[in-house]
Amino acid sequence: MNENAYLTQEYARQLDEEDELKQYREEFYIQPGIIYMDGNSLGLLSKRAEDSLWRMLDSWKTYGIDGWTKGEHPWFYFSEKLGEMTAPLIGAKPEEVIVTGSTTVNLHQIVSTFFKPKGNRTKILADELNFPTDIYALKSQLGIHGLDPEEHLIQVKSADGQTLCEEDIINAMTDDVALIVLAGVLYRSGQILDMERLTKEAHKRGILIAFDLCHSIGAIPHQLSEWGVDFAFWCSYKHLNGGPGAVAGLYVNEAHFGANPGLAGWFGSHKEKQFDMEHTLTPAPDAGAFQMGTPHLLSAAPLYGSLTMFNEVGIEKIRKKSLDMTEYMMKLIDAELKDFGFVVANPRDEDKRGGHIYLEHDEAARICKALKENGIIPDFRTPKGIRLAPVALYNTYEEVWRTVQALKKIMAEEQYKQFENKRDVVA
Ligand SMILES: *Cc1c(COP(=O)(O)O)cnc(C)c1O
Repeated sequence: MNENAYLTQEYARQLDEEDELKQYREEFYIQPGIIYMDGNSLGLLSKRAEDSLWRMLDSWKTYGIDGWTKGEHPWFYFSEKLGEMTAPLIGAKPEEVIVTGSTTVNLHQIVSTFFKPKGNRTKILADELNFPTDIYALKSQLGIHGLDPEEHLIQVKSADGQTLCEEDIINAMTDDVALIVLAGVLYRSGQILDMERLTKEAHKRGILIAFDLCHSIGAIPHQLSEWGVDFAFWCSYKHLNGGPGAVAGLYVNEAHFGANPGLAGWFGSHKEKQFDMEHTLTPAPDAGAFQMGTPHLLSAAPLYGSLTMFNEVGIEKIRKKSLDMTEYMMKLIDAELKDFGFVVANPRDEDKRGGHIYLEHDEAARICKALKENGIIPDFRTPKGIRLAPVALYNTYEEVWRTVQALKKIMAEEQYKQFENKRDVVA
């Protein structure tokens, strides 16, 4: 075979032919003429997710109030059920996971419950590349304790503006740190942090550690229990395809069971006790204790259908195809876009690269607009980032090929110049 054969459309089609996950694409709603490369921001709707939402509505229709205890999935146990289904994706025990709240709310719960500034240990360690909401939550939590965030929130710096160095994080684990909050996969560059190593180093120093898995859950495997991670939290609308605003998740290592929830509510009750209606909370014996109010069942329902797919395929196979796709995309970018000023700013190593490609270009905002004009949905991150996520369950190798071809055409024909280099309201 000719050494440039990988640049052809036929080659891409051949990869699709050989793809053992190809039938899953049929399970998603793919709009004709659209190439969706934004599954790391909002995953697409699957027929299973849609079906489980309809079933939830149907149980309301059929049972009214009795839906709490009757039907296929009694609502009273649904958050626990989804937690159990999520556990294999993160290497946790079923009782360590609960589907509840949102990313931001779950982080607040973790900090409210487990951040106990004492003596010299009054600081929270984070980094300067994390998603803003995590930082806002941490600063506000410090404020509640009367601690000045300027002094008590340490944000590890990035040397290159894209990635973090684990050594730097470990060096910042000083004896005044009580809690560490980091991302599993960075939302821009897609860098995977070595969660196992960071956890080990934190524990050596008597520090608790939490990971935000928004960009890693459903994209890469985790072994949270084995690594001894204390806490984790994530959203369900990115790689998990749970739908916009889907109910999020929370993992609490069993070593921390029995802690009194910082933000308490009656759905954190022991199931047998909840309807005793006492004014003293008897918390659930597991991660369920960290729920607050009545679960948002209609926003949780699609996750059920979606998770059946993840559990059927297994995260290892999903990861393998995802790595193949991002590898292929980088090879095409290197070959086809080398004259156009793009920088591949995600880590290239397999053990450091998450589920998306991160390109930087000074004209990124309007290149993204031109991509949309060409029927390709990318994800712009200000000031000059283009995220492209070929998703294992529903994207094809041919779509990866066509995306790179479209970028080449947009640049060669200077199509992007028809647009303003400015972000839209949601970008
Ligand atoms: C998407 C994302 C969030 C979003 O938080 P919500 O509470 O779901 O709005 C938070 N943190 C990270 C790292 C994210 O990628």
